[in-house]
Amino acid sequence: MQITEHVYQVGGSTLSHPSDAAIYCVTDGKVTALIDAGTGDGHDRVLKNIAKENIDASAIHYLFLTHCHFDHVGGAHKLRGTFNCKVVAHQLDAQYIEAGDQYVTAANWYGSFLTPCTIDIKVNDSEKSFAIGSLTLNMHHIPGHSPGSVALTVESEGKLVLFGQDVHGPLNDVLKSNRDDYIQSLEFLLSLDADILCEGHFGVYFGKEEVKNFIESFL
Ligand SMILES: [Zn+2]
Ligand SMILES: [Zn+2]
Repeated sequence: MQITEHVYQVGGSTLSHPSDAAIYCVTDGKVTALIDAGTGDGHDRVLKNIAKENIDASAIHYLFLTHCHFDHVGGAHKLRGTFNCKVVAHQLDAQYIEAGDQYVTAANWYGSFLTPCTIDIKVNDSEKSFAIGSLTLNMHHIPGHSPGSVALTVESEGKLVLFGQDVHGPLNDVLKSNRDDYIQSLEFLLSLDADILCEGHFGVYFGKEEVKNFIESFL
């Protein structure tokens, strides 16, 4: 599913596997980054969706993980193996993915097990930019839902596209959620004034007003 000239959705509950969070793709045609990996149970369908959009598999250089939860990272080791891409995550969540923690990653909620995945680039900054060919993908630390949650933004067609993923939460002690951090992070997401929001489970919101209303509904 194409969202803008440079942004696609290639996985999610209706696109790859019912338990998968959304998997997005940012590409300038030469270099491509994936955002989140799903559970891994829909891996073959993710590969087919990528091929269907004519995205060159050898151009997939990065896999960004927005946070450590199983529905977003379960398939990371398979994608890393298939594309030989660099996996990027915030340091505070990377530890749970590399350790295959079954509780903080919520793998046990899915009656499944997280296969650990090496995180090639552990980010410790509140902001970091990555060149995806001619595009700039910005990573923003937005703790709350998990300690090392990140949002990503990219400019495409003159619009700011926000990959907020689990904007909606939930907050849970086992997941090491923090309510104050979460509220502060939602306020930060609002301040970005994004034109398009790509959410982890609720789909894609178009227009500043729609994006604002969705984020505000969780404040
Ligand atoms: Zn989550
Ligand atoms: Zn999720």
